[in-house]
Amino acid sequence: MYLGRIADGRNVRVGCHDAIVNQATFDATQRQLNSRRTNSRRRRVNHDNFTFRQKIVCPRCGRFLNTYQITKRHSLGAEIAYCYYRCRSTAGGLPPCQGVQYGAWDIEEGIRFLLNEHETWRTLLGPQASDQSIRQAMDTWRVLLWQWQHTWLRNSVERIEINEDRSTIAVTFSSDAGAAFLPENGCF
Ligand SMILES: [Zn+2]
Repeated sequence: MYLGRIADGRNVRVGCHDAIVNQATFDATQRQLNSRRTNSRRRRVNHDNFTFRQKIVCPRCGRFLNTYQITKRHSLGAEIAYCYYRCRSTAGGLPPCQGVQYGAWDIEEGIRFLLNEHETWRTLLGPQASDQSIRQAMDTWRVLLWQWQHTWLRNSVERIEINEDRSTIAVTFSSDAGAAFLPENGCF
């Protein structure tokens, strides 16, 4: 409602009313509200397992998905953490959306798949980037240490929107996401 949208079946679409706050303000407010939530019963989750915490929008209600982690002990004694994003928000007085749950690794794989695509890097590096600099950026990305990839993804992905009906995800990268990969900057 704040953004001028309405829930339409399983997705959110533009409504007939004007937005009263912009997207950036709305996102910042959601993050602040979520950070105040406390749940003493739950064990602390390892945020490193959730690259896109506070970035993924629930396809049904438009609120950010929460992180959820369960640890199972396997017969050989190893503990395995299962990580999910779920709609557990009660913000705005609305109940959480039942059944909205995505594996954290599945989402990350989807984003990494995008980063194997030439077109993604063309978008990230801008229209002035040559084919050669795009190829170089892709090669650099592939050989980056996992931890650096993780940090870059966390800093560069601003927003992820999932469309359940079409089984697509839309990713918003920060405007300077590609800058570190341009040869004149040479961060990597
Ligand atoms: Zn929801």
